[in-house]
Amino acid sequence: MPRPIEALIHLDALAHNLRRVRAAAPDAKVWAVVKADAYGHGIERAYPALQAADGFALLDLAEAERVRALGWRGPILLLEGCFESRDLELCSRLNLWHVVHREEQIDWLATHKTTWPHRVFLKLNSGMNRLGFPPAAFRAAWMRLSGLTQVDEISLMTHFSDADGERGIEHQLAVFRQATEGLPGERSLANSAATLRHGSRADVRGDWVRPGIAVYGSSPDHPEHGAADWSLQPAMTLRARLIAVQQLQPGDTVGYGSTFRAEAPMRIGVVACGYADGYPRHAGTGTPVLVDGTRTRLVGRVSMDMLTVDLTPTPQAGVGSEVTLWGRGPQGAVLPIDDVARAAGTVGYELMCALARRVPTHVV
Ligand code: PLP
Repeated sequence: MPRPIEALIHLDALAHNLRRVRAAAPDAKVWAVVKADAYGHGIERAYPALQAADGFALLDLAEAERVRALGWRGPILLLEGCFESRDLELCSRLNLWHVVHREEQIDWLATHKTTWPHRVFLKLNSGMNRLGFPPAAFRAAWMRLSGLTQVDEISLMTHFSDADGERGIEHQLAVFRQATEGLPGERSLANSAATLRHGSRADVRGDWVRPGIAVYGSSPDHPEHGAADWSLQPAMTLRARLIAVQQLQPGDTVGYGSTFRAEAPMRIGVVACGYADGYPRHAGTGTPVLVDGTRTRLVGRVSMDMLTVDLTPTPQAGVGSEVTLWGRGPQGAVLPIDDVARAAGTVGYELMCALARRVPTHVV
């Protein structure tokens, strides 16, 4: 009998979330962002649902090759562009669109002997200060690119730093508007938060939106909104079973560091899931978990292969009971990954991406 832990990837949820994103940005095309192996879901696993997107946005040539190997003939965008000049060869062979965010990438294009012209997304640094040309250098970069025979289409993009937060998008939007005014080409600005919050605005949705986290059913602006508030469904479930039960007396402690001490007699369930499975070690006592579909709490420290939960709300639970760490539980119960992430001081993105290879993962 294999160790009782597994992850499920829900194709119906991915398809639903993609429709949800489309509805939020009418008429815009959708890059489904599948970097980091589709945010931990697995590119190949997610593909059957995500091929309803207009294109795939990802990080490197290896991921692009995997998408092409699945039979995808449509657009693929390299979100950080080429990392070195020789990447251009494969870029053109795989027919990839790629981001150009710094001068050297234009130099590479200028000296590249290509049989197929390149399609590029010229990136503006509108305030995130990660990738992109500063506003003052943007037009010159566009002029240089437009003069190259190696390039046959230039689109324009930027990335918001605070679409999910208080600062919002207006200041970056104004910078983008000014820097791109009068330039031809398609536009792409919006991640999940900008798409869900402002996708009804033509200037925000542009021609292409680039949702990642929303497609996977996690809220881009938790805790202000939960996934259910955005009508998103979790695309990943992590579940395991109880492999032992302990009866504690007042004063007994649980796990490494004895961080939890029982104040009254209580039952503790030991779950076949630990940080080596991708469960966050920083989740402490109180982190939500479902046992047989009923919400209860984690107690004590998370170990490498196990964690411990309070069985007080589920007196019927015993060895073999189903424990939902996040995602869909039995009888329609749902435990949002964002709730678990918050209790561990992180975000849903990180938990999804950290799902360990050793966890058997099934597409359902
Ligand atoms: N566009 C770019 C350039 C990104 O780096 C990312 C992810 O970080 C996304 C889009 C998708 O963002 P989100 O997952 O918040 O929708």
